[in-house]
Amino acid sequence: MSGPRHLRVAVVGSGPAGFYTADALLKSEDPPVAVDVLDRLPTPWGLVRLGVAPDHENIKAVSRAFERTAARPGFRFFGNVDVGSAVTPAELLERYDAVVYTIGAQTDRRLGVPGEDLPGSWPATAFVAWYNGHPDYQELPFDLSHGRAVVVGNGNVAIDCARMLALTAEELAPTDTVDAAERAIVGSGIREIVMLGRRGPVQAAFTPPELQELGELAGADVHVDPHDLELDAASAEALEHDRERARRNVDLLREFAARPAKGLPRRIVLRFLVSPVAILGEERVEAIEVVHNELVEQDGRLVARPTDRRETLPCGIVLRSVGYQGVELPGLPFDAGESIVPNDGGRVRGVERTYAAGWIKRGPSGVIGTNKKDAVETVDALLADARAGLLKAPDDGDLEALLRDRDVPFVEYAGWQAIDAAERAGGEPLGRPRVKLTAWSDLLDTGRGVQSRS
Ligand SMILES: Cc1cc2nc3c(=O)[nH]c(=O)nc-3n(C[C@H](O)[C@H](O)[C@H](O)COP(=O)(O)OP(=O)(O)OC[C@H]3O[C@@H](n4cnc5c(N)ncnc54)[C@H](O)[C@@H]3O)c2cc1C
Repeated sequence: MSGPRHLRVAVVGSGPAGFYTADALLKSEDPPVAVDVLDRLPTPWGLVRLGVAPDHENIKAVSRAFERTAARPGFRFFGNVDVGSAVTPAELLERYDAVVYTIGAQTDRRLGVPGEDLPGSWPATAFVAWYNGHPDYQELPFDLSHGRAVVVGNGNVAIDCARMLALTAEELAPTDTVDAAERAIVGSGIREIVMLGRRGPVQAAFTPPELQELGELAGADVHVDPHDLELDAASAEALEHDRERARRNVDLLREFAARPAKGLPRRIVLRFLVSPVAILGEERVEAIEVVHNELVEQDGRLVARPTDRRETLPCGIVLRSVGYQGVELPGLPFDAGESIVPNDGGRVRGVERTYAAGWIKRGPSGVIGTNKKDAVETVDALLADARAGLLKAPDDGDLEALLRDRDVPFVEYAGWQAIDAAERAGGEPLGRPRVKLTAWSDLLDTGRGVQSRS
């Protein structure tokens, strides 16, 4: 690029945090910044493409804002570049004035109960990645032939999993759910989907719009036992002073509890104050054993304490949705307790010119928009360091030359646009937003060698 020397920044990860970071950097005039965004996948957008539920197309539309960022001068994309194996953090620091890690939370949190690894017990991360077309998860043998599925967890991802299992052929048809998942869901033998919440309805993590949607499904009744909505004194008190969310959730749950069943083919049962203690089965999942909890106050918050009441619920599949978790990237510090890269307002502790944003900075919480504020905080810190003269790469080498030397088959932004166009063209005659390419070979064959104009 011509004009004053640009600060050269690599952003590792192309999810919302990566794109909000790139956007804030590319808007800087003092200093002007050139940004390379790297991702281990050939496709950008992170969980917007591979996490957000396929029937939430309006939410996926945030990628249009990311496309505008990618169109800014100074932006480059390097897909199919796994930082840690294709190139190391140290090699990036040699070539960039600063590096921002926005690698999200790549794995699931464990329940820590016996039987967790029995066939038929799956982390929600895998189920979500499967129905969304993540190329690493397409061979997984999800068996939906059993009558009951259990979803452990009471957040929006748990609701996504329960809802996806309950969608009808007509509801799935206009989405970009991958074919194998769509066929399995439509042909599934699942008649009941039970969601298990550790604490009570007032403490549930899901949000009212997602809860409301469960009550609007074409093929599933929603069932709540009115006894589960009899609040203990502390929860009732918490509700009095609530936050909008719990109050609206409880109103919706009361409405569900009062509703007569319509006799739809499937039903979703919302249970509260129960935790799994074991997943049972000889060769595969046959049941889940739960303990009934009571709420007690601990350090100013209401926590679940197990009672001696237990119950066994026969089921054929368990989806564990108790949170995502960051993964250590070799060459970067890692706080194993919090599963984040330790940082102060985005400055990674103990490593020069290195920053973090998004889920790997603060943990897996918040909506897509939360990552914008978070990214801006990190970029403010980075630009302040640049103005203070603290950022300067030792070397002016270019990443592209290194990747070519190593025969890393990277995908440029134009390559992603070719993938995008092929997917949209595949979806058009079917009235779907896209038919995703889900095999590494198809993604790379379509995206490789298509060069972006700089
Ligand atoms: C199932 C699910 C559904 C959700 N639905 C909604 C919703 O409906 N609405 C909403 O507002 N929010 C939703 N969210 C939350 C939202 O997706 C997150 O807030 C957001 O994606 C986090 O952004 P991020 O950039 O930190 O991480 P991510 O989106 O996970 O992006 C991280 C990126 O880093 C890349 N990466 C990882 N490791 C490496 C490496 N070593 N080298 C190179 N690249 C790497 C990954 O491939 C990925 O592209 C949902 C989350 C989940 C899990």
